[in-house]
Amino acid sequence: MFEKILIANRGEIALRVQRACRELGIKTVAVHSEADREAKYVQLADESVCIGPAPSGQSYLNIPAVISAAEVTDAEAIHPGYGFLSENADFAERVEQSGFVFIGPRAETIRLMGDKVSAKEAMRKAGVPCVPGSEGALGDDPEEILREAKRIGYPVIIKAAGGGGGRGMRVVHTEAALLASVNMTKAEAQGAFGNPMVYMEKFLEQPRHIEIQVLSDQHGNAVYLGERDCSMQRRHQKVLEEAPAPGISTRLRDKIGARCADACRRINYRGAGTFEFLYENDEFYFIEMNTRVQVEHPVTEMITGIDIVQEQIRIAAGEKLTFRQRDIEFKGHAIECRINAEDPYTFVPSPGRITTFHMPGGPGVRVDTHAYQNYMVPPHYDSMIGKLITHGATREQAIAKMRIALSEMAVEGIKTNVALHRDLLADAAFHLGGTSIHYLEQKLGLNSK
Ligand code: ADP
Repeated sequence: MFEKILIANRGEIALRVQRACRELGIKTVAVHSEADREAKYVQLADESVCIGPAPSGQSYLNIPAVISAAEVTDAEAIHPGYGFLSENADFAERVEQSGFVFIGPRAETIRLMGDKVSAKEAMRKAGVPCVPGSEGALGDDPEEILREAKRIGYPVIIKAAGGGGGRGMRVVHTEAALLASVNMTKAEAQGAFGNPMVYMEKFLEQPRHIEIQVLSDQHGNAVYLGERDCSMQRRHQKVLEEAPAPGISTRLRDKIGARCADACRRINYRGAGTFEFLYENDEFYFIEMNTRVQVEHPVTEMITGIDIVQEQIRIAAGEKLTFRQRDIEFKGHAIECRINAEDPYTFVPSPGRITTFHMPGGPGVRVDTHAYQNYMVPPHYDSMIGKLITHGATREQAIAKMRIALSEMAVEGIKTNVALHRDLLADAAFHLGGTSIHYLEQKLGLNSK
């Protein structure tokens, strides 16, 4: 096992990884920007290194600065968390070339999955069901593109191979609009991602977002930890997640889960990962793989009792998974609300000093946050200040616990989206479960595609 790990991230996930390390008896190095110098989790780490000024381009995304911090502190491995450098194949490569272990998949796997065309092709070959669409990237022949769309059937969606964060996509409803849309998406993709390649998929009208969590070690063992329903989204950003997904049968979960675990073995996957699917009419359609720990990993931890971050570290250290698929049991139901420093209805970020900070508790209530009373939420980063997670024997119990937990939570001095979560937890359609990815925006009266 490693003696010292550098955590190349900030906020709640930096604290989450730090806790996992401490439980495993591993020393931690926190790297931080000038804006995060005073944060308590930075002080809690065994060592800390300032890697640059507040803007993340000069600190959390500064590869040479992160690697030199690992060098001066003699860390053996680097945990990238989520966001920032976590899915940057060049970073993973540089980390390993500099003699450190990257806690995540190999650089070549990140590269394969980072390009959506190659990811889809690899998944199709590995037997994972994908959204019907073009074979690979679209060529330049307009006749061919028109034929493809006709074969797939309108509406179709044009997506950039290098896209991410919900950008680089365009829905096309009619043949008349097709070629102009393809050309526009290509031009945008070149500008935004430096890669003009685009591909075409059937546009699913009312899908749910359901994803499968996997763990895969370096000895050919891979397991799935069930699914999460992350359909409550605004502008492709997840707001509330739950596990298991309401209404999915055990048989269906096991079938898709087994396919994902099998795909991990085939591509020699290393670490924790998530297969994201759109789900419509009882069918799963792969859209992309995330090669890192995700914000919503706690709901899976709550229903399986498995510490996903500790498993990531063990796998990176070369250990074998200590459990098999049949050892994994899914118990009860878990819900996560992402707590953001923002106006609950306009979503305008609300950084500033937290004057009151009271967190809920009790059985089945988990709070993952780096914030505290008097903490200054910096304006430079993502507005998420923490996650509230509840676990109950049934979905109804998890909901009841969440409603009480939200009613107890008090954060003042900044605005938060707690009021939105309170509304959602009282929403009739949410209670029924199984709403589509458009539901939240429709409820909010926002224009949804
Ligand atoms: P990104 O990497 O930018 O998040 P994804 O491929 O994961 O891109 O797609 C983001 C979102 O776009 C999905 O969650 C879904 O809302 C929508 N989307 C993508 N592909 C389709 C499709 N074929 N049909 C309907 N919606 C889609």
